[in-house]
Amino acid sequence: MIDMTIGILGGGQLGRMLALAGYPLGLRLRFLDPAAEAPVKDLSELNVAPYDDYEALRRFAQDCDLITYEFENVPAESARFLSSMRAIYPPPKALDASQDRFAEKNFFQSLSIPTPRFALVASAEDLKRAIQQIGLPAVLKTRRMGYDGKGQTIVREQSDLLQTWEALGRTSLILEEFIQFERELSMLAVRSRTGELAFYPLVENHHRDGILRLSLAPAPGVSAQLQALAESYARKILEALNYVGVLALELFDVGALCAVPLLANEMAPRVHNSGHWTIEGAVTSQFENHLRAILGWPLGSIEPRGYCAMLNLIGRVPNSETVLKIPGAHLHLYGKSPRPGRKLGHITLCETSEELLEAKLAQLQALL
Ligand code: AMP
Repeated sequence: MIDMTIGILGGGQLGRMLALAGYPLGLRLRFLDPAAEAPVKDLSELNVAPYDDYEALRRFAQDCDLITYEFENVPAESARFLSSMRAIYPPPKALDASQDRFAEKNFFQSLSIPTPRFALVASAEDLKRAIQQIGLPAVLKTRRMGYDGKGQTIVREQSDLLQTWEALGRTSLILEEFIQFERELSMLAVRSRTGELAFYPLVENHHRDGILRLSLAPAPGVSAQLQALAESYARKILEALNYVGVLALELFDVGALCAVPLLANEMAPRVHNSGHWTIEGAVTSQFENHLRAILGWPLGSIEPRGYCAMLNLIGRVPNSETVLKIPGAHLHLYGKSPRPGRKLGHITLCETSEELLEAKLAQLQALL
């Protein structure tokens, strides 16, 4: 047994999968989450407390050797408070950059990473100015607390504007150019405490109602140049933040004919839903590599084991036995109670050819 306890802020499904990757490595894990019913509750020690309960955070830090997080809306101040007691990775400044869409887009641009054009909207006058600058259609997004498509609306007509602003709560927003992308991709990158880097192959992501439904990995038809371009964006971010751990970068693929084929949409300083395929589909999973990175251990190979698809189970779960009848289907259930729009589990397929994957995926989709 390695005498090492890792503390994780957030006890959702990502925490659960981190724990499942950590136990074979001999690690002890301990979680802090405001919900007593958090998905990690059955497999790890769970401290139930709000993320801004400083006394609870202090006690939590005392029981851990090293801290990380699986929830990107942990208050950056809480992460800083913890960093005065224990090493915390990824660094709290990654939370500053990712929690505010305006700061995030400025950060990308400061690194010469192209993004959709955007403008800050803090008042009704700003909104008019922003529309003149960006044009329509455009996407109006809250600066903070947006995820799974929440806190954003597409604006098509000038007349929709004020109404949309009111609906989003008259808070501070950004207006973004609407991108007619060919597809959405994500780059999962890892940087260890030693500076070692690893980049998974690009993943193709399909959303419905703003929620990720399906990931294909490696993304079909990605050229070596496109992979290298995505890696170059991720490398800049990792190095600028002196980042440690897994980082997910969401990208819009606007096509090889464009001068700039990839635009950065947003980043998540944590393991990511579009990397779940790596559990069975890569030599080393994103979860294991995140733990290796924060411990300063050698990173594992990111090589894919085949052609993979990951389907999220949203709102309801199918009968397990029916899924498991499909040879090679890997079922993951998170132990959450069903609710519309809630991610309850996922299924991964990993096949030896694209044709086989397509056939199995059709079989699975028909079943679901
Ligand atoms: P976000 O919360 O920024 O990741 O946005 C959620 C989803 O909305 C993205 O995955 C895209 O499908 C879509 N989206 C976000 N921003 C834009 C944009 N500027 N143009 C077109 N679609 C967008």
